[in-house]
Amino acid sequence: MSDAAPSSQRPPEVDRAAASRKAVAARRARASLKRDLATRVVTPQEVLRRAVADPASPAGTLRVPDFLTALPAIGEGKRDRILTQLGISPVKRLGGLGTRQRAALQEWLDRRMPEPRPRPGRSRLLVLAGPTAVGKGTVSARIREEHPEILVSVSATTRAPRPGEVDGVHYYFVDDAEFDRMIAEGELLEHAVVHNKHRYGTPRGPIDRALAEGRTVLLEIDLQGARQVRAAEPSASLVFLLPPSWDELVNRLVGRGTEDEEERARRLRTAKVELAAQGEFDFHIVNEDVATAARQVVDLTQASER
Ligand code: 5GP
Repeated sequence: MSDAAPSSQRPPEVDRAAASRKAVAARRARASLKRDLATRVVTPQEVLRRAVADPASPAGTLRVPDFLTALPAIGEGKRDRILTQLGISPVKRLGGLGTRQRAALQEWLDRRMPEPRPRPGRSRLLVLAGPTAVGKGTVSARIREEHPEILVSVSATTRAPRPGEVDGVHYYFVDDAEFDRMIAEGELLEHAVVHNKHRYGTPRGPIDRALAEGRTVLLEIDLQGARQVRAAEPSASLVFLLPPSWDELVNRLVGRGTEDEEERARRLRTAKVELAAQGEFDFHIVNEDVATAARQVVDLTQASER
């Protein structure tokens, strides 16, 4: 006689297959979330909020030790000390923490890696930056199209135009000598070598004129440029565009198909460095879809006019 359980007690084949697919998907979602934490696409506090809101979510089912080691600069030794200090058992999942443990973890996170807070007092000079392939160009192009009242600055660059790019519309395409001249004559508000390759800079004249007329100005530039603008114009508002997830950023970069393998790897390394600088920014907007992100940026400029 067979000692297998009667068929009525065993889940049918299809259920077991579905359950195992679900388990694989849940593991993948947690792995993806850990990448988001490691690359700072999400703050640990945000993951904790998601865990509390839905204990069955990828955040909620993430084990606390895995959560901690996913954070930048936390290894296994440090992780174990933190768990002991906070009185949290290593088998605990984020969504299963008691009120006191959760408060202790929250307090530890706020002390060690505070979340960026929006700065009060807004400016009409807005700088939009963010990691490569996050969609800064698409978002600023949408704003240029729908909000002619906002001046979207046209940068100068030494790189060659891509198919479809028009001089004076997408960029001012200049050679090295002309770029040098612009720097020497103080015509650029900021300038930088981007991706170790070409030079990009923001012409100062059109911005000064627009601001004098009371218009809002938007610059879509890289991180080095954003820092220079902050130094030159401390009242500028710095906006950081985030991808919905690290995996999505990788997809967007691959999908764009404009870079070869080596260039993509280089840009992803730069993206990690750029994401790590998001704490320097005043506002953070997730580019889930272009229309919403563009509206959120414009809302910031309108709030500044009140
Ligand atoms: P792309 O060559 O793909 O058009 O742009 C490459 C990078 O250059 C983007 O990250 C973009 O934000 C940055 N960039 C474009 N214009 C400027 C600029 O005027 N100044 C700085 N610092 N970066 C810029």
